[in-house]
Amino acid sequence: MSEATRKFAVIGDPVGQSLSPDLHNRVFGQLDIAASYGKRHVSPENLVSVVAGFRSELDGFNITVPHKTAIIPCLDEISAAAETIGAVNCVQVVAGKLIGHNTDHTGFSRLLEKNKITNAESPVLVLGAGGAARAVVYALLERGFEAIAIVNRTPERAREMVVWAGRLGKSANLQAATIADLDRLLTAARLVINCTPLGMTSHGGGNPLGDLSVSANQILIDTIYTPLETEFLRTGRLAGARTVNGLEMFIYQGLAALDIWLGKNISGRIYGRDLKDFLSNRLKNVK
Ligand code: NAP
Repeated sequence: MSEATRKFAVIGDPVGQSLSPDLHNRVFGQLDIAASYGKRHVSPENLVSVVAGFRSELDGFNITVPHKTAIIPCLDEISAAAETIGAVNCVQVVAGKLIGHNTDHTGFSRLLEKNKITNAESPVLVLGAGGAARAVVYALLERGFEAIAIVNRTPERAREMVVWAGRLGKSANLQAATIADLDRLLTAARLVINCTPLGMTSHGGGNPLGDLSVSANQILIDTIYTPLETEFLRTGRLAGARTVNGLEMFIYQGLAALDIWLGKNISGRIYGRDLKDFLSNRLKNVK
């Protein structure tokens, strides 16, 4: 495929809300890259056939809910990190071959780096045990965080995640806990990360901490960015805590995908602040 016809897309069900086209097309415009990025609604029944067609149609694509794990059998190769995390959010098409990657963990890692949040901010409390939580815990372990508690609605999944994380070969104190332990773990935590959809506009809001209080010396990160300030982050801000939303995680997972697809250091040539302002502006009316 020639340089002039590079084509990319995001697939999901639903996909209408995705900001990926805004992000990628903005970067293509800024760097004068001849490429386009669209979105495709793909239902689970059509996943295999649609993805097969992408071998000749696209140069790469992103995957959002609910296909991040289901896509794995459709691929020819998968990166070590994506295999470990068990989820693919980015596929590179090379001469018709589909190679899966996970850049969500890169996005979260870059969010920590950009916000100068180091492993001194321990213990960490992770809320949720799904795909986003895995990418987050993978990044935390890569960055040397040593005490991580995982609380999940379904306790079995938190336990499974601790077993999974224990196999990553890092010397960390990992703990699976239930909602009943939330108050105690929240009081002890320096860093609290929401990896559930509770608080998302499309889920009707909500707060994974319920009525529990946050203190001013804590840092709260939400992986959600619609809305930019969830109830979880609002509670933190009102208590004087530092808060970070999921927009930078999203931006840096996208830039990491571009580095993979284009084989160039795109992320190093883009001013993250500009993208953040541009996308925040797109989202400012989302409540
Ligand atoms: P997932 O695999 O479906 O996992 C969802 C997790 O949230 C599970 O642990 C689930 O608990 C829990 N949960 C769902 N509904 C809940 C409720 N009503 N009450 C309590 N817990 C609930 O989803 P995911 O892929 O991890 O995505 C989670 C969030 O991460 C999404 O909302 C998205 O905003 C965010 N995300 C952000 C980025 C980014 O770039 N910023 C990237 C990826 C994801 P059970 O195990 O009990 O079902």
